[in-house]
Amino acid sequence: MAYQSINPANGELLASFDQQTDEQMRSALATADNTYRRIWSKMPVRERAKIVGRAASLMSERKENLARLASLEMGKRISEGRGEVELSAAILKYYADNAEAFLAPRIIESKAGYARLEFSPLGVLIGVQPWNYPYYQLSRFAAPQLMAGNVLLVKHASGVPQCALAFEKLLTDAGSPAGAYTNLFLSSDQVGALIDDPRTCGVALTGSERAGESLASRAGRNLKKSTMELGGSDAFIVLQDCDFEYAVKMAVLGRMSNAGQTCIGSKRFIVVGARAEQFLNAFRDALKQLKAGDPLDETTTLAPLSSDAALKLLLGQVREAVAHGARVFTGGERLGKAGAYMQPTILTNVSPDNPAYRQEFFGPVALFFAAKDEDEAIAIANDSPYGLGGSVYTSDIEHGKQVASRIETGMVFINFPTMSAPDLPFGGIKRSGYGKELSSLGIEEFVNKKLIWVAPVEAP
Ligand code: NAP
Repeated sequence: MAYQSINPANGELLASFDQQTDEQMRSALATADNTYRRIWSKMPVRERAKIVGRAASLMSERKENLARLASLEMGKRISEGRGEVELSAAILKYYADNAEAFLAPRIIESKAGYARLEFSPLGVLIGVQPWNYPYYQLSRFAAPQLMAGNVLLVKHASGVPQCALAFEKLLTDAGSPAGAYTNLFLSSDQVGALIDDPRTCGVALTGSERAGESLASRAGRNLKKSTMELGGSDAFIVLQDCDFEYAVKMAVLGRMSNAGQTCIGSKRFIVVGARAEQFLNAFRDALKQLKAGDPLDETTTLAPLSSDAALKLLLGQVREAVAHGARVFTGGERLGKAGAYMQPTILTNVSPDNPAYRQEFFGPVALFFAAKDEDEAIAIANDSPYGLGGSVYTSDIEHGKQVASRIETGMVFINFPTMSAPDLPFGGIKRSGYGKELSSLGIEEFVNKKLIWVAPVEAP
């Protein structure tokens, strides 16, 4: 069975689902295309907003069940799951409330004469999404694209099939017509075939670089638009004037949210000046306070990784880092209990020639660097193949903004590790991908921005 729910806290198989056949996939595509042409693209934005708005309300009503499902399928702590569901519902509501304004035609003040920009949908889009935020990722793609008038075929990660179905059901129960949003249990090859089909118009991936290379090149070969939300290795820069204790607390939050499996999680800790060692010790002590347990238990502060395979991958990366000269300052091993639990880990002495220096660690592993001054800290931050997020800790906010401007990345947060809200654009540069999700920018990614120009009356 390709699509399996396995509880990473104890290895129990909860459910399995068959991959869909090519025939089922073709039929779903035909329905989506038909729904796009005959129903969804013709529906006034306000009518679409009623459906997406209802899905937002249903999501809030079902918060507890949805959060529980994420705990069971990918190990998210229940309180984090509730937070994710609330944010996902807010994203659905935000686009239901604001899409009409975002999509309103704009007059371009041009010396060339009357010119107007209209926004119209493209058609059938393909979404490929990861397991780490099993609802938020879907909302981030679905809310703006449905409101823009596109219809969606979605391949979610194979480890969260029940979350995938629960999200699809929100839209069905909210009254969306068959074919507007379709969850499909597909293989990578089938996704490729969908991209090749002339009826699909674009692909949005959130996932790894490996998947990004594969899907972006397939879309490129077909001259189709794509957006890529890929990995990151965000810098967490501690300046000398910051509130030290607060920064340590934020380091734990930044590295350990979602058991360290967050694309914009803090991954490289760069501390300026004489207090670097003190920070390192305090960070280790704070990590040691975390209590491993069942993610459904409200008192658990250290959840398992999403799967045993994810844990093995991470342990392998730590071993490789050590083989190339890194030092395990704390942690580095699997926890001695059932389930995919890993000790919170800090690696020091990671030199630029160590492969770990340029890798993403998708779990509770922090890389620590001491910098002699701010310039060196910024140089380390920028010496990365990634550019997704990053954060700066300082008591001088204006100075923090100047430092933020010098970091080569898609988002920088001052005095907090990461932030995502419906009206804040999200996306990276370099090997973290391209395109933006959320805010008014997210709804503009897959629309035809059509120019209409009128010749001046005196034209011959
Ligand atoms: P992944 O292996 O790339 O999986 C993500 C999705 O892509 C899954 O649905 C997966 O399906 C599918 N997939 C993988 N290879 C594919 C291919 N060749 N063709 C079609 N579909 C393919 O990523 P992951 O390891 O599960 O997720 C973690 C990565 O996502 C990290 O690098 C993380 O930083 C990144 N991420 C980025 C963001 C962002 O917004 N920038 C947000 C969250 C996560 P299967 O599950 O069936 O393999």
